Amino acid sequence: MGKITGFMEYDRTTAAELPCDARIRNWDAFHPAQSEPEIREQAARCMNCGVPFCHAGVNWRGVGSGCSIGNLIPEWNHLVYKGHLEEAYRRLEKTNPLHECTSRVCPALCEGACTAGLNGDPIAIREVERFLSDLAWEKGWVTPRPPKARNGKTVAVVGSGPAGLTAANQLNQRGFTVTVFEKSEEPGGLLMFGIPNMKLPKSLVRRRIELFRREGIEFVCGVDVGRDVPVSELDRFDAVLLCGGAGQPRDLSVTGRNLPGVRFAVPFLAEATRRLLAGKMEEKPLSGRKVVVIGGGDTGNDCVATSIRMGANAVLQLEIMPPAPETRRADNPWPRWPLVLKTDYGQQEAIWMYGSDPRSFEVTAVSIIGNETNGVTGIETAQVEWINTERGRAPRPIESTKRRQAATDVLIAMGFVGAETYLPEALNLTLDRTAYSTTRMGVFAAGDMRTGQSLVVRAEADAKRAADEVERYLSRQ
Ligand SMILES: Cc1cc2nc3c(=O)[nH]c(=O)nc-3n(C[C@H](O)[C@H](O)[C@H](O)COP(=O)(O)OP(=O)(O)OC[C@H]3O[C@@H](n4cnc5c(N)ncnc54)[C@H](O)[C@@H]3O)c2cc1C
Repeated sequence: MGKITGFMEYDRTTAAELPCDARIRNWDAFHPAQSEPEIREQAARCMNCGVPFCHAGVNWRGVGSGCSIGNLIPEWNHLVYKGHLEEAYRRLEKTNPLHECTSRVCPALCEGACTAGLNGDPIAIREVERFLSDLAWEKGWVTPRPPKARNGKTVAVVGSGPAGLTAANQLNQRGFTVTVFEKSEEPGGLLMFGIPNMKLPKSLVRRRIELFRREGIEFVCGVDVGRDVPVSELDRFDAVLLCGGAGQPRDLSVTGRNLPGVRFAVPFLAEATRRLLAGKMEEKPLSGRKVVVIGGGDTGNDCVATSIRMGANAVLQLEIMPPAPETRRADNPWPRWPLVLKTDYGQQEAIWMYGSDPRSFEVTAVSIIGNETNGVTGIETAQVEWINTERGRAPRPIESTKRRQAATDVLIAMGFVGAETYLPEALNLTLDRTAYSTTRMGVFAAGDMRTGQSLVVRAEADAKRAADEVERYLSRQ
């Protein structure tokens, strides 16, 4: 424990984000890093608890708690407080090969489980991680480290999101020759073509992938395995790991769903990133338009922020669930992840821009109005009531609350139902949520493709365990 009384002397502080009016003008990151003195104070707040829940990723009754990849948080905090910054970074890189990403996009499950949060504010752990990650890149501590020897065995990884990258890195470090196949034009999965640039600058994703390339991982992009190339292409590898993500979005089944102007969230967000990378960020393709985002979660929030930067005149966000409580409920105790209402960056920007929270809770889309020529012209919504049915609780629209309002674009951000099926079908196998192996010998699966939609840090954790499994399998061959 760095400073015995640190948790009593210092308050939690996080970096002051750029104000909304400044940040919506561009696509740059708006969350700066804290200074070294601020970070050392945060680290000094860490109590180095006897049982530190922050670093122990566990699942209690279906709710995650603590860091899924077991980041050695009390250890870095102690070293940071003492000023041993490189040593602290070396502890971070032991567990997390994508720290520049998690330190920007992770919801910080660790902070929800921090003991200081039991009756006060948790340590700003993500800020400490961000500081160490930035510092390590700046100081040249992150250098390519190709394995000293190759073991002669080959592994194909399909998909280059956080799961594919983490597994490829681990297997490469252990001497396997790894080829990653990616259907997009460049690697990164949702880190590249999903999470917007202002949350995770694409230059950082590219820098990490370049490092992996220099360490010996081969990336083959623009190749959709099972469609562009037959799965027999994978036969030449000793093992195959499928990390294709949860690519099937949950659809909306209402009249007008197929009108021009109704889109799924991820292709919309990916297109925004492609425009940015092509240098077309000054264009305002949503200028004069009224956007309705269906889904009040994180992806929906990214759609709100992206629509604002694209010049939308109005943005509305529909959420079918009631709002979460302001503080933890009795059945959601520490150290579980706090299920509380948050007003995320896109919603804050919408409040600044349009004067009110874009979210309407317990509201559903009843129909989308328009025609083939003009596309979407409006949306009909209704409040819902939650009723008990044979299949559990279900929302029922309340007839008397139906209302129509103008809209030109509808973005569906209602989550994902699971992995796309064409790849498993082409390989003639079934995925198994309870195992990393599949029904086909030598073929494994990890990340969102195996578990369903999740988080970057959980995809990493899953991929590490899957890579261990691949290694065990190959050691028996
Ligand atoms: C918009 C959005 C925002 C998010 N924001 C956050 C956030 O802020 N924080 C957080 O922790 N999590 C966030 N998530 C969740 C997180 O991004 C995912 O849980 C994580 O990326 C899953 O990693 P993965 O590697 O399993 O899959 P993915 O990242 O989905 O990567 C799968 C890759 O496989 C490729 N692929 C699929 N099939 C094939 C094939 N047949 N051949 C070749 N390539 C193929 C895909 O093109 C893709 O690149 C967000 C998700 C979305 C959709």
